[in-house]
Amino acid sequence: MNETKQSHVMATYNRTALRFERGEGAWLITDDGDRYLDFGSGVAVNVLGHAHPKLVATLKAQAEKLWHVSNLYTIPEQEALADALCAHSFAERVFFCNSGAEAAEGMIKVMRKYHAVNGRPEKVTLISFAGAFHGRTLAALAAAGNQAYLEGFGPPPAGFVQCPAFDIGQLEALIDDTTAGILIEPVQGEGGVRDTGTGFLRDLRTLCDKHDILLGFDEVQCGIGRTGKLFAHEWAEVIPDVMAIAKGIGGGFPLGAFLTSEKLGAAMQAGTHGSTYGGNPLATAVGAAVLETVGQPAFLEHVQDVSSFFRQQLAQVIDENNDIFTELRGLGLLIGLKCTPLNSDVVAALRHHHLLSVGAGENTLRLLPPLNVTREEVAVAIAALQAACVDLRAAKDKA
Ligand SMILES: *Cc1c(COP(=O)(O)O)cnc(C)c1O
Repeated sequence: MNETKQSHVMATYNRTALRFERGEGAWLITDDGDRYLDFGSGVAVNVLGHAHPKLVATLKAQAEKLWHVSNLYTIPEQEALADALCAHSFAERVFFCNSGAEAAEGMIKVMRKYHAVNGRPEKVTLISFAGAFHGRTLAALAAAGNQAYLEGFGPPPAGFVQCPAFDIGQLEALIDDTTAGILIEPVQGEGGVRDTGTGFLRDLRTLCDKHDILLGFDEVQCGIGRTGKLFAHEWAEVIPDVMAIAKGIGGGFPLGAFLTSEKLGAAMQAGTHGSTYGGNPLATAVGAAVLETVGQPAFLEHVQDVSSFFRQQLAQVIDENNDIFTELRGLGLLIGLKCTPLNSDVVAALRHHHLLSVGAGENTLRLLPPLNVTREEVAVAIAALQAACVDLRAAKDKA
């Protein structure tokens, strides 16, 4: 483990030396046999944990039949997943891709194309929000407007405007004749686990209807059961015109999609968009198995039940350790804890106690357990948080 061999992998991530060999449910096991409770879930991806028997069986069965044919042919697995996604949502049309950034980018494209085919090609501007994250392609970065991520990569694509706060007044002032629509994560993930609130989402829908512009939800992180509803916007009972999904839908197999109403879907005719891999048989077979499980009412009830248990326990942890944690954020199992010490130090302290977590913006710690996590596993995580608080306090007292 201590070898100092030069890595040929580009150094875009600050990686720890931990190497995992296999996983079982919410647990990851290193090549030395050490067990870690995985409350990062590969950044909100492994919604059914690791090596879920149904997903393993689905992937194996599909692997023995057919992996890839391209979108020149009808793909029954893709048709079936599109049917299921539409049956579970507002959507009538689905385009499959392979990642969240591609899904967000597709969402941007369809919002512009809709106006163009309806005789309003000047409507190209997308309004997004401070703290947003939509992925790492140039358009997704321009949409999120995080200068640190754009630095050094040349001129960002034009046609993006940022609203500094979740404030309807400030937002409406940004709308003009060039506005195509609004892009928002119903619950921001990377930006610091910030819930935009059901009232704000409803006001957004009203505003979009008033100005005849489109509403796009990026549910790449907060969708697929993460908040206790299949899609986070269901809490607000608000319907978007388009939605991007990825992360959880593949359960670990790379898969993304954007879903639209009929009127937006109709704007995307043959040749307007494409993806070689997008929606291939392996990915969509696994996606259908994920949705079949996560889409069950009893499964979503479990997410709501275990998340309210977890949140009660976390409120107590904050109460007893208000020098370390100051605020509980998010919705369901998209959990944020605002930290007083550096969040990276908190992630390291938790890792020392074999609990895996992820940092987020605004010095927040993200806890993203698999959605089938048990109360017993939550109790293990709470004990690790308590132990890490003792360590962090001792480190601070020594400094
Ligand atoms: C992770 C994320 C993305 C980007 O997904 P990738 O698969 O990394 O491209 C986009 N939007 C949101 C809200 C995300 O959390």
